[in-house]
Amino acid sequence: MATIPHKLNLLRERIDAACNAVGRPENAVELLAVSKTFDADAVRQAHAAGQRAFGENYLQEALDKQAQLAGLDLEWHFIGPIQSNKTRGIAENFHWVHGIERLKIARRLSEQRPEELAPLNVCVQVNVSGEASKSGCAPAEALALCVAVAQLPRLRLRGLMAIPAPSAAAEDPRLPFRVLRELFESLRRAGLEVDTISAGMSDDLEAAIAEGSTLVRVGSGLFGKRTP
Ligand SMILES: *Cc1c(COP(=O)(O)O)cnc(C)c1O
Repeated sequence: MATIPHKLNLLRERIDAACNAVGRPENAVELLAVSKTFDADAVRQAHAAGQRAFGENYLQEALDKQAQLAGLDLEWHFIGPIQSNKTRGIAENFHWVHGIERLKIARRLSEQRPEELAPLNVCVQVNVSGEASKSGCAPAEALALCVAVAQLPRLRLRGLMAIPAPSAAAEDPRLPFRVLRELFESLRRAGLEVDTISAGMSDDLEAAIAEGSTLVRVGSGLFGKRTP
């Protein structure tokens, strides 16, 4: 059975190869290890192999893991949907939040971010596949939402995030990521100092990297199959 350090190496090679294939430098893409449903020991193993950034979807599960791993130098990213009653716990215990889709949630996170911590890094999530059931703001609303989020004092807008629908990937796997990159470029043209495109998971990271992703979020490709 492949160990976590071994799979981490393979994954880094896969990311490097995807960068090389499109002429991007190998350090252009950061790996976020998605540890949701996996235990603290899996995180400890990945950290021992050089991984520092971890993604979690469920607040209570993340807090339990953080408590068990206190003392390790880890960077925690909240990547799940955000309910209003969870914003305080997220604002107090994470370095990044990827799923901002409403200004109301962003305002709460900013108000609840403790003074003694650095501003919370955030990405606005965009629904690039146009499905009513998927989360994220509409592409046409992304710029206005980003401008508003960038003004919140305790947040630092870093860029955009998306989770394209697999069905969209079947036609042209790069298309949804291209939509995301074009939006990102429009933010830059509008004067926003963004540096992050959070896109690409275990099954589609090559397509995402080809379209400029700067951060891929990989769970099953590193820790194994999740049992839901
Ligand atoms: C679970 C999850 C991932 C990781 O997905 P894998 O297919 O296991 O790599 C990435 N991003 C988000 C937002 C997730 O919820």
